[in-house]
Amino acid sequence: MKDTPMAADRTTGTIYINPKLYSKLSIFEKKFWDQHEKGHIILNTSDEIKADTYAFNKLAGTEFRSLKQMIEAAENLLNENCPYHQERIDNLYALALKWDREHPQLNKAISTKNIAETGNAINNALETMGAYMLGAVNAGASASNNAAKTTTLGTTLSTSTIVIIAIIAFMLIK
Ligand SMILES: [Zn+2]
Repeated sequence: MKDTPMAADRTTGTIYINPKLYSKLSIFEKKFWDQHEKGHIILNTSDEIKADTYAFNKLAGTEFRSLKQMIEAAENLLNENCPYHQERIDNLYALALKWDREHPQLNKAISTKNIAETGNAINNALETMGAYMLGAVNAGASASNNAAKTTTLGTTLSTSTIVIIAIIAFMLIK
């Protein structure tokens, strides 16, 4: 409980809160980590990626920017220099991309700004997603199309274009 705002005891089904760290979370971050801990208990697993995925499935589409907020919640708490933490963040990117494709009428979860900034994370996420998509030939093809698009974006956009897009994206987010 030292450096985590919440923890679950699966033997008793109890969720514990570290008040000092919990109070620093946004309302949505509290929802996300609450669902994450419930995931540990309901799925009876110590697997962090399964608990993250449980929380994602509970909260995706429940409010404006829900997918982005989940990725932000994970990035705020997890250390990107830790390979397992990076794997968890990549899993959330993969789930967000998959959710976007399944809900094409809604706005894209991952904006052009994020693609410009996190090209590697998205490529990793797409690789992770490849594993999900092995069963479906069409979906697999579109995943590789996305990967190709991501690469093109990363290499052909000039710096000034990225800056302009970033400024517009920032204004929209604000
Ligand atoms: Zn956990």
